[in-house]
Amino acid sequence: MKSQKMKILAFSLFFALAATGCTLTAGTVPTPGSTSGSPASVPVNPSNAPNITKPGVTQPATKPTTTPVTTTAAGSGQTPGTKPSTTTAGTTTAGSTTTNPINPSDIKSGEAYDTATVRDWTRNASQAAYYPKQKLVFLTFDDGPSTKVTPLVLDVLKKNNVKATFFYYTHGDLSSRAGIVRRTADEGHAIAIHTASHNYKKLYPGRKANVEAILSDVRTATSNIQTVLGTSWKPSVYRFPGGSFSWTGSTSARKAMTQAKQALGNMGLQYLDWNAMTGDADYNNRDKSPSGLVKYAVKTTKNAYGHVIVLLMHDADHLPNTPKALQGLIDYYREQGYEFGILK
Ligand SMILES: [Zn+2]
Repeated sequence: MKSQKMKILAFSLFFALAATGCTLTAGTVPTPGSTSGSPASVPVNPSNAPNITKPGVTQPATKPTTTPVTTTAAGSGQTPGTKPSTTTAGTTTAGSTTTNPINPSDIKSGEAYDTATVRDWTRNASQAAYYPKQKLVFLTFDDGPSTKVTPLVLDVLKKNNVKATFFYYTHGDLSSRAGIVRRTADEGHAIAIHTASHNYKKLYPGRKANVEAILSDVRTATSNIQTVLGTSWKPSVYRFPGGSFSWTGSTSARKAMTQAKQALGNMGLQYLDWNAMTGDADYNNRDKSPSGLVKYAVKTTKNAYGHVIVLLMHDADHLPNTPKALQGLIDYYREQGYEFGILK
């Protein structure tokens, strides 16, 4: 009886928050078509109905057989690896890589990587024209900037000399947070578009992408950021509020989402979801302590396909444990031999 009440309360809260465009995030969105209301947590290959091995975590039919380069520089952030003797481009696949078009010396921390390529690596690695041998992680933060949380995130990143990508939720105005925006840019992080409104009802009425509403929202967010950084700043990376995979529950919704992606592409924006997460913004009973967030990130990283990881986190006012988990996350990825990339 009590849990039923709680469920009703939780769902009421969900719709109330979604309606007001709060920072409700993808991890909290029931998967379209799902009757259980379980969260759409970690998409890997949402378009091709991959084998589902556990709730919310999907994997493609085949795993890459490429062995990641063994590293010896745990903790240093440097990953020397073994340099291949060839740089032939576009002739290999993740499943049967014999040559690698990317020289491992080009895979290094702080480098910016083409978003469409990273998307291929995380979603369709087995079909990607090439796949890096190096382990690569992209730390991504949605829903900021936050005066309370973002500076703490930036502090940890700075201390570790690690760069990240920030997907902004501008709230329609960044003037009170202009200092954080400038600091983020000055310290070499990537700034990307998330949304101006975070209003699911407006962006996805009937759980279906409204292309015009999305483009309008992107233009507003862009203008908000340019007010601070100037018009020389141009957006090139976009993350759908809720994740693109959350809004493809019917044939017409899938078509609308495809159109939205194409329209964004015409504006010069490449979208990117994620394949691992700390679960920091999820509404569930999972452990949200700093160590709990690290634990879930490790779990979803291990479940992700391949070794190019896009990790979802949030720098939002109400999530103080995210910056507290960040050192542990950086330590984990370094120990595992990952380099830290940003999106361009
Ligand atoms: Zn968001």
